[in-house]
Amino acid sequence: GEPLLEVRDLRVYYRTVAGLSKAVDGVDLEVRRGEILGIAGESGSGKSTLTTALLRLTKPPGFIAGGSVIFHPREGAPVDLMKLSDSQVREYRWRNLSYLPQGSMNSLNPVMKIEDQFVDVITQHSDIPARKAREMVPSLLEQVGLDLHVARMYPHELSGGMKQRVIIAMSVALNSDLVVADEPTTALDVHIQRVVIQTLASLRDEFGMTVILVTHDMAVHAELADRVAVMYAGKIVEVSDVHQIFKDPKHPYTQGLIASIPKIGGERRRLSGIGGNAPSPLNWPPGCRFHPRCPYVMDACRQQEPPLLPLVNGHQRPPVVACHLYTQQQVSGGSDDRRS
Ligand code: SF4
Ligand code: MG
Repeated sequence: GEPLLEVRDLRVYYRTVAGLSKAVDGVDLEVRRGEILGIAGESGSGKSTLTTALLRLTKPPGFIAGGSVIFHPREGAPVDLMKLSDSQVREYRWRNLSYLPQGSMNSLNPVMKIEDQFVDVITQHSDIPARKAREMVPSLLEQVGLDLHVARMYPHELSGGMKQRVIIAMSVALNSDLVVADEPTTALDVHIQRVVIQTLASLRDEFGMTVILVTHDMAVHAELADRVAVMYAGKIVEVSDVHQIFKDPKHPYTQGLIASIPKIGGERRRLSGIGGNAPSPLNWPPGCRFHPRCPYVMDACRQQEPPLLPLVNGHQRPPVVACHLYTQQQVSGGSDDRRS
């Protein structure tokens, strides 16, 4: 698909008493229109910092230290979201870009009927009048598979899965080009997870929405994502089609993540392939940031940072990987995910 977002060398740092925390430190990534792009990685790898920055939702002491995020709207010229004024970016955010923060299903107002909350969201973020907004509610509920009588209910009368679908319907209401969902299934029971997964899949399949799905849970990526980008220590270390990344992960860190997926009926294993602790964004390791934990570490890994480059392997869309193990098999340039 055509690009919706092009992220180039994005850096998001935090000022802390202990020094500069380089939470996102040079990310290159393309998000294509109509896809579900999964962003995977352990907590602390920079996933949430990255995705909030894409929508210019970074809050102090965080700041954008560099890079660009080119957004291609359905109509009109591409814009660099990092260069817009706050009021300009707010316009784009409500019209084109929706954010479902972690735990967002708890963000519904407990003393307001669902219908009124829809009207609030729509009128606040568009020039649609309240009467028209109210008329939109039944079809919005239907789009996420909810019964029409939900409109007259209060949040406490809804199950967790229903609340999550209401939240998703609110982003549909604004006809967003892009929905960013941060850990949408985390801390939900298995049944509700299923509902959320089906709802997000229908946003892509029925409405052609683009979804950035942020989760540490590789099993959710396996079910939902079209492509998966793996983050480690503030950088993307691998991007690949979902089938390929599970069948044949390239980066040693990705291999460890996939090895740690709980098997059906088995014990949940904790990154079985990966020993050691996640590094600190105050002081990333030199060279390859994964080298202190990598079972394949070589001399070069301690000194040189491996660039994120596509593999030559006969695939139409080759995996893109940042690892010295593949230096001989990589081509510079030519990838959608890395242009210099
Ligand atoms: Fe391991 Fe070296 Fe590859 Fe880093 S570059 S993942 S240390 S082999
Ligand atoms: Mg997070």
